[in-house]
Amino acid sequence: MLSRTIPPQIAQQLRAESGFGCAVCGCPIVEYHHIIPWAERKHYEAEHMVALCRNHHQELGKQRKEVSYAAKRNPINIRHKKLQGYLVTNKENQALRLGNTRFVGFTHAVSYYGIPLFGHRIVNKEIRLNCFIPDEDFFPDIEVSDNNLSAMIGNFWDIEFKSNYVKFRRKKGEVFLELDFRGDDVTVRGRFDIEGREYRFSPNRCDFGGPRIEGITFQGFPGATAIGHGEAGVRLLKPNFAMRAPRKTLVRK
Ligand SMILES: [Zn+2]
Repeated sequence: MLSRTIPPQIAQQLRAESGFGCAVCGCPIVEYHHIIPWAERKHYEAEHMVALCRNHHQELGKQRKEVSYAAKRNPINIRHKKLQGYLVTNKENQALRLGNTRFVGFTHAVSYYGIPLFGHRIVNKEIRLNCFIPDEDFFPDIEVSDNNLSAMIGNFWDIEFKSNYVKFRRKKGEVFLELDFRGDDVTVRGRFDIEGREYRFSPNRCDFGGPRIEGITFQGFPGATAIGHGEAGVRLLKPNFAMRAPRKTLVRK
């Protein structure tokens, strides 16, 4: 007897094919629709299933199968090459935690040539996360602006999004970045590099592109930067999503 729980590899396959969001509207919180209904045939055949948000799951469930197959063939996030979502907190998150290192009160936890990579601010007792992870041209791979998330989907094997939690994987078995709003602190875990400098945030090890810091609390004030990389007097201008040929530019202050 086939279980009613979708096998993880089929769920990943359906997420990836639809750009990690609803095939119709792009919403990153998805369910898995049986185009050939379960009642008709008990199956988990990816070619007859599609990732949809709750609303479109209900809507397309009432329509002809062709509508679902058409959505499956042409997912909106694949057309836009981008995933967008909003991270929410249901707690009064107090601080930002990168691996085992805690940042209290800092606007910028880590910056690179003046560009904030991780930071946060508190608005109405709620945390607003800011995060920037660039690709090799310094174009944003993952960008979070006051909890609004944008990611270039092309570089990822899987993205799992659950409103207060998101996990990015470049390949199977590896965690590239995990943003977790479920605890008392907003916690970041993962491993990535920026221009050959390794950043690793885990419960027992923290690498900040060179310096390795373990299990301490940085206490600061709004506007302050805790850890800064880069030459003094040089600032980096990062490309943005509107640019056609994204390249980073270094400028003298
Ligand atoms: Zn939808």
